[in-house]
Amino acid sequence: HTMLMGCVRRHLSFSARLQSNMPAWVIDQYGNNGVLRFTEEVIAPSINSASEVLIQVHAASLNPLDIAMRGGYGSKLFNLKRNLMSLGQNASEFPIILGRDVSGVVVDCGSGVTHFTPGDEVWAAIPPWKQGSLAGLVTLSEYEVSHKPSSLSHTEAASVPYVAATALSALVNAGGLNRDSCVDKRVLIIGASGGVGTFSIQLLKAWGAHVTVTCSHNAEGLVRGVGADDVVDYTAGDVADELGQLEKFDVILDNVGGDYEHWVMALLKPWSGAKYVTLVSPLLSSTDSMGLLEGWVHSGLALTQVAVKNMCNGVFYRWGFYAPDGPVLDEVSRLVDAGKILPVVEATFPFSNVPQAFEKLEGGHARGKTVINVV
Ligand code: NDP
Repeated sequence: HTMLMGCVRRHLSFSARLQSNMPAWVIDQYGNNGVLRFTEEVIAPSINSASEVLIQVHAASLNPLDIAMRGGYGSKLFNLKRNLMSLGQNASEFPIILGRDVSGVVVDCGSGVTHFTPGDEVWAAIPPWKQGSLAGLVTLSEYEVSHKPSSLSHTEAASVPYVAATALSALVNAGGLNRDSCVDKRVLIIGASGGVGTFSIQLLKAWGAHVTVTCSHNAEGLVRGVGADDVVDYTAGDVADELGQLEKFDVILDNVGGDYEHWVMALLKPWSGAKYVTLVSPLLSSTDSMGLLEGWVHSGLALTQVAVKNMCNGVFYRWGFYAPDGPVLDEVSRLVDAGKILPVVEATFPFSNVPQAFEKLEGGHARGKTVINVV
């Protein structure tokens, strides 16, 4: 068996090195769905540094960021990162491959990789400045990759990494929560029926928190099914009034933004370290419209102003962001294999129907995740 696996790994590694082209959905300019182009002739990535792993993509999933990036969102900041990574050699970012989640199999490893070998089943959230998973192959640093939960298929696994990395970064780094500090904590999730929300409910319940959520009426069964304790239908009546009647919260995770941040701060327990964390910040749109430096400064000043005002009222105001983190996914993998977190896949599309998957996501009202089976 060991000899056979060795042969298979050598073969995979050899064929990956020989392969020079791969199939992918690319964009050559920013725009609407019409810019998505399928090609069999993208140059396949290969191992460029000692810590890289090359992954054959089995499944990918879409996030709202893919739609935004297709239209050019974040391009100034992501191009800066791309240019830093390629030491300024790349004049153009195109063709760009979208897709921030991957579940697949390792086919080659850099000489310094210690945690993975060819043949390993892995999952990862791909940073937005790297080429994405709507392709046959993707390269990542081994620190961005994790062993996929053995209890999940590739389709199921691809639905988790990006929302998991985002939720963990927002709840832990910005919200100050962790698995040992959640018991007796009251958390409110605004906009809980999509990818980040359905994952966050399950994570917080696994950690012992009490979870209240807002969602549309027809998502109540879904959010209760993954563990929400209290559910407020934001489409029926006055959501502010209904939430205001509940006991106050230790942490609020806002997946919707807009008006919410002006009034939900009053739902936090004052002078107790309570935190509001929003995933909807103006940072990238400001750098897009004003340029990198002015956009950073403008966003930084706006953030400081709101944060100081709220600190005077005894609560913290923070921005949450996705952060690439393989070890964090190891922890999620354990929770998944222990049955504490289930994937929530709403729709699956074959690789030939990527534009239809984008259309589905653009329609809004997500109830979990949209996954693309690449092989
Ligand atoms: P999804 O599209 O999967 O889910 C959004 C959900 O919010 C939908 O189920 C939608 O359903 C619901 N919703 C919309 N309006 C409201 C409302 N007023 N009140 C309650 N629920 C509402 O998105 P994700 O979960 O993947 O991401 C959530 C947000 O976080 C997005 O805006 C995304 O761009 C952002 N994000 C930011 C990141 C960062 O690094 N800062 C990283 C990842 C995500 P319905 O309309 O039917 O109610």
